[in-house]
Amino acid sequence: MLRLRPAGDRPLRLALLGAHCDDVEIGCGGLVLDLAERRGLATVDVLVVASDSPREAEARAALSAFSAPVVPTTRFGGLPDGRLPGHWDEVKDLLQDFSRDTEADVVLAPSPADAHQDHRLLGELAATAFRDALILHYEIPKWDGDLGAGKPQTYWPLSEQVVRRKYALLHQHYVSQRGHDWFREDTFTALARLRGMECRADYAEAFTARKTVLGWRAEGQGPADQPRG
Ligand SMILES: [Zn+2]
Repeated sequence: MLRLRPAGDRPLRLALLGAHCDDVEIGCGGLVLDLAERRGLATVDVLVVASDSPREAEARAALSAFSAPVVPTTRFGGLPDGRLPGHWDEVKDLLQDFSRDTEADVVLAPSPADAHQDHRLLGELAATAFRDALILHYEIPKWDGDLGAGKPQTYWPLSEQVVRRKYALLHQHYVSQRGHDWFREDTFTALARLRGMECRADYAEAFTARKTVLGWRAEGQGPADQPRG
């Protein structure tokens, strides 16, 4: 296992990109929870591109719970769900503004191989806005059956406790999603168990990284060496 540790052993600055409210928590909520519990987070900046007022309220509460004790900075694009490819310019502008205002070591984004058009567009554009950060693309289980389409090869191991808490917070905060037949604890737990088996852990979340830049950091070396994508 290679450890993700910025120079100076300071906590990580995370930028989280979601096409919709709940994408981030489903795709990488375990990683965020795990880092938060280990006091490994310096900042959490979130951009959710498609949103409306009721779901924004759910997302604000959920993101605060996942990131605690760090208070996340969250912005919403207010674009229509399912129609992001028709709003390409606005999505691009939202991303550019967000990346300009955000200093991130690691960016979490949907997969460019995702079957959902909104996820896919955001996954494709993430690397055009964040040029100097490690970008990890998360996966979202759904009716389309596209799990594994991006061929995950990067893992964040999780304990059973974190996996259970991830679903508990999803269930608590996303009341609007409880009626969906996929929005069940066993959906998320089963996927996390499979990804955990693949990386020899109990549970895990899995990601794809299109580009990873490696470097050696000697003890006492300055801030030039950051995790980069
Ligand atoms: Zn989504």
